[in-house]
Amino acid sequence: MELIIDNLSKTYANGVQALQNISLEIPTGMFGLLGPNGAGKSTLMRTIATLQEADKGSIKLGEIDVLKQKNELRQVLGYLPQQFGLYPKLSAEFLLNHFAILKGINNKGERNDLVNALLIKTNLYEVRKQNLKGFSGGMKQRFGIAQALLSNPKLLIVDEPTAGLDPVERNRFYNVLSEIGEKTVVILSTHIVDDVKELCTNMAIINKGQVCLKGNPKKIIEDM
Ligand code: ADP
Ligand code: ADP
Repeated sequence: MELIIDNLSKTYANGVQALQNISLEIPTGMFGLLGPNGAGKSTLMRTIATLQEADKGSIKLGEIDVLKQKNELRQVLGYLPQQFGLYPKLSAEFLLNHFAILKGINNKGERNDLVNALLIKTNLYEVRKQNLKGFSGGMKQRFGIAQALLSNPKLLIVDEPTAGLDPVERNRFYNVLSEIGEKTVVILSTHIVDDVKELCTNMAIINKGQVCLKGNPKKIIEDM
């Protein structure tokens, strides 16, 4: 699977050129998106996730023409925004089960198997009965990933997922993400250059809405 972004541009109503002719080829694996605040990272990710419109350009995920086939894309998308809503008084297990019902997984046995597999994969099985209120930042982010994985995504977008996490939690989170990256296009936006160097097979740096550098992280970061 490959995500191909071609000449994507977006100017907001206030005149800010958030994206200017962005072109990127993103294969299965972990892709690191680096750039300072205001560079256009969130705009790019929200556009790929079909949450906002571009002015021009195209995005393809395999056969899916993302900007035109929004429903098709949404069926294979996992998206973990920077801030996502949580239900503090409910448990991880209850919520995942609930979201699985909403996804239309009506068979109870099938649903239990799926929820258990996701809890194990994201290292939350032990705390599955706890209310999210008591979760640490890292646990919450891993819960977000479990939720995003419910749709068995081919494309997973995560926006600064480790902001505010301590190093142990960050490692735990990245272990989960790396495993997903073996079969999925994962776009990871972060400020932490070393994380991209360690985790990602490809990267791009954007600034002022433009791609300034793209390629192999080890090579790019060592040359920096
Ligand atoms: P980030 O942490 O990604 O830099 P921002 O603080 O830029 O996030 O944006 C947070 C939210 O505010 C986003 O939903 C974004 O669309 C919106 N936003 C950012 N800048 C503006 C702006 N100049 N005018 C209106 N909305 C904005
Ligand atoms: P990043 O995620 O890299 O911080 P954003 O995509 O949030 O960057 O923002 C890129 C630029 O677009 C910034 O100058 C921001 O203020 C502006 N911007 C973001 N969202 C909006 C919006 N809804 N309306 C107007 N300007 C926005």
